[in-house]
Amino acid sequence: MKNQTSILTFWKLKSLPGITCTLLLLGNSVWGQSAHQVIPDSLPLEKLMGYSQTIRYSIGHQERAAFIARLMENAEVFFQKEVGFTPKTELYILAPGDWKSVAAKPLHDVYGFPHNLDQVRLVIAAEDNDFWRSFIPPVDTLPASLASQFKTAYAKPDGTYTMMPFFDLLALHEMGHSYTAQAGLKMHRHWMGELFVNIMLHTYVAEKKPELLPALEAFPNLIINAGTAEYSYTSLHDFEKLYATLGMGPRNYGWYQSRFHGSAKAIYDAGGKQVLKKLWNALRQHQQEMSDESFAEMLKMDVHPSVADVYLKWNTTP
Ligand SMILES: [Zn+2]
Repeated sequence: MKNQTSILTFWKLKSLPGITCTLLLLGNSVWGQSAHQVIPDSLPLEKLMGYSQTIRYSIGHQERAAFIARLMENAEVFFQKEVGFTPKTELYILAPGDWKSVAAKPLHDVYGFPHNLDQVRLVIAAEDNDFWRSFIPPVDTLPASLASQFKTAYAKPDGTYTMMPFFDLLALHEMGHSYTAQAGLKMHRHWMGELFVNIMLHTYVAEKKPELLPALEAFPNLIINAGTAEYSYTSLHDFEKLYATLGMGPRNYGWYQSRFHGSAKAIYDAGGKQVLKKLWNALRQHQQEMSDESFAEMLKMDVHPSVADVYLKWNTTP
């Protein structure tokens, strides 16, 4: 298992009219303190029984824990069938009072951000929170089609909004990194590492939870539709060069993630669920170093042209 864990990216959204909100996204880097983080035995967490993974939750949140556990378990069953592998994970579903004792140190004050401590331990919020609410735009100022998507995805019966459905799905993105790391896949490029887990996420949702597609797609659509005028970096070459140090800046990183969500959807729509299996097998098999050109050729011939197109047509895709 690779000694990787998730790092924090801080993304300020200013590109939409009237919107200033913050988004934290995860990439992969090394947070030594996270991998060795000790969760105190004295923490009063309950254990949810009846699931294949270890699931602990804050007192009073059994219902929420069971909801997330079912989402994870359903995804695991699907991925086991598709790629023949299930990682070992421990889920922590936490109230605000327990958050700091478990979360990675840089996220102590960011209750609500799902993250992967060490490719085994996943940290998830039990409650809606200010962080999630900070992403809710002034919906009435959005273009009509985006406003409609946003309402479909995140409106509550009382007319207010919650981003909980999107962040619950980001937890599956984080779980995806446990799959690739624990199975020993070679991702070859940082962009593939992020694209791959978004392909996992999109394929699962489209196949088994299509009612959640609006929640998965509306937020990235909002970002992509705002254009690139405010971003200094938009090429995959820059993503590779700047990824390890987050040199593109957190907000710019969030734009890349939104593009990877869009690419995952395009790949699924073009090739269906079998692309995931083919790509998994190809990344497990091809452990050798590859040039950009030979990597793209392998993706085109062994997996699906739509995967190669993420690299080949990156600059011409809207
Ligand atoms: Zn990621």
